Amino acid sequence: MNKPLPNNALTDNLRKAEQHLARFKKSVVPHRIAGENVVGQEAFENFDPSDNSVLCKISSGTEKEIDQAARAAEAAFKVWKDVPGEKRRALLHKIADKIEARAEEIALVESTDSGQAIRYMAKAALRGAENFRFYADKAPEASDGLSLPTETHLNYTIRQPIGPVGVITPWNTPFMLSTWKIAPALAAGCTIVHKPAEWSPLSAVILSEIMSEVFEGAGLPKGIVNLVHGFGESAGKALTEHPAIKAIAFVGESITGSHIMSQGSRTLKRVHFELGGKNPVVVFDDADYDRALDAVLFMIYSLNGQRCTSSSRALVQRSIYDRLTADLKARVEKIKVGHPLDPDTELGPLIHARHADKVLSYAEHAKKDGAQIATGGIRALDGKGNFVCPTLFTRATNEMRIAQEEIFGPVLTVIPFEDEADAIRIANDVRYGLAAYIWTGNVGRAHRVAQSVEAGMVWVNSENVRHLPTPFGGVKASGIGRDGGDYAFEIYMEQKNIAIGLDKHRAPKIGV
Ligand code: NAD
Repeated sequence: MNKPLPNNALTDNLRKAEQHLARFKKSVVPHRIAGENVVGQEAFENFDPSDNSVLCKISSGTEKEIDQAARAAEAAFKVWKDVPGEKRRALLHKIADKIEARAEEIALVESTDSGQAIRYMAKAALRGAENFRFYADKAPEASDGLSLPTETHLNYTIRQPIGPVGVITPWNTPFMLSTWKIAPALAAGCTIVHKPAEWSPLSAVILSEIMSEVFEGAGLPKGIVNLVHGFGESAGKALTEHPAIKAIAFVGESITGSHIMSQGSRTLKRVHFELGGKNPVVVFDDADYDRALDAVLFMIYSLNGQRCTSSSRALVQRSIYDRLTADLKARVEKIKVGHPLDPDTELGPLIHARHADKVLSYAEHAKKDGAQIATGGIRALDGKGNFVCPTLFTRATNEMRIAQEEIFGPVLTVIPFEDEADAIRIANDVRYGLAAYIWTGNVGRAHRVAQSVEAGMVWVNSENVRHLPTPFGGVKASGIGRDGGDYAFEIYMEQKNIAIGLDKHRAPKIGV
């Protein structure tokens, strides 16, 4: 694969990105605590995945900055929790307006910082605005409860915000995922300490600026949203252990979820986890073949395969296995690997040199375990970036490491199955259970398999299309709790029951 020659659109995007990135390069990127820029004692280098040059330096949070941020969020909570829902609605819509106004900047910065192709990042920035609009409109009803009358009492329930929340996000599509957590928390009346991933921290800075402008412009306390950068084992750990933080909304690896659970146990943290996946796409021989082929490719090779809902295991009925794997190989070899800011690029560099090494190490596991590397498994392009060729493993079985472990890159493992029962058995034979995809022309089969597969979300004859009111989350090692709709309020709010005694009720007398 040759390095693509610079084209006009790429040159133009590089120039615009450079303008937006210039301020990050000037000095150490600060935390933002109670509306103030805070540069800590420690800093770390943030790399450009397309050539591994140092993009900028980022303040590295410690217990001290986490404590300042948590205390600021605690103080601001006393005010924000009582701001009427209609006002919260208007403020969150303002945040969405400002995200839309800066969508191009967010996309360019995010694409450079994370290596994700610009063709996808433009949409991801706008999805961030949509998340705020959706939860803006939910804010006025966030505290609504139920009325449950009995003969002796009128019971009614209300929902109240839980308090300051720690939001810990991963490096894949960081802007969209951060808004996905922060918007419902704010709509509920919670205040925030956000710890973004150390490998892609820049779009969080823009989000924090936008939110601060809106809250400060409305004369509200400066600590409603706080941003502390840093590593998981220091800043992240301190956040999960802080007594002022009442819940942790976390997106990341399953093993990190286990660490957070034990770190938060002393302060009895409520946790909400969106974790890893090894999602099956099951293709039966009665499926619409061409549509299934497009969807299988899209759901693993778009977004660099660095997406939690990517279908990284294709389970293909034996009768169409050879045809489908041949067609997959032909298409995979045409995927355009290139600079993330080139609009023609379909696959950008992976997030970090260490991650690229990890992804490539699976080619060795594939060989050792007896699978076939149909294509890929090697670096792509010359130079210093984290480019890898899109990879296809065939002749695989579900026991192999390539079928059991989350690789989180542009790597698809294709496994044959015999019949419906075999497909369900293989689909469920992993520790994860986030999403599943089923391709079949048989309606009854679609329902049967959808109901039997162990996953929080199933798409039938469709790739992942997100509808915000629906529940999003995983089972088994893929998560705890659901986002989306009102489901997100279950993390950020407490239910309170209030029982009003009616005249018919008298306590039994004692001590007379
Ligand atoms: P990660 O678990 O390594 O890191 C995620 C975040 O946790 C980072 O901000 C990191 O600094 C922090 N962290 C790490 N150790 C910590 C600790 N001990 N205490 C507190 N915080 C800590 O995950 P990643 O590699 O950044 O992201 C990729 C993972 O995220 C994949 O497994 C992917 O499937 C998952 N993911 C899941 C979903 C979903 O909806 N289920 C969505 C996106 C990503």
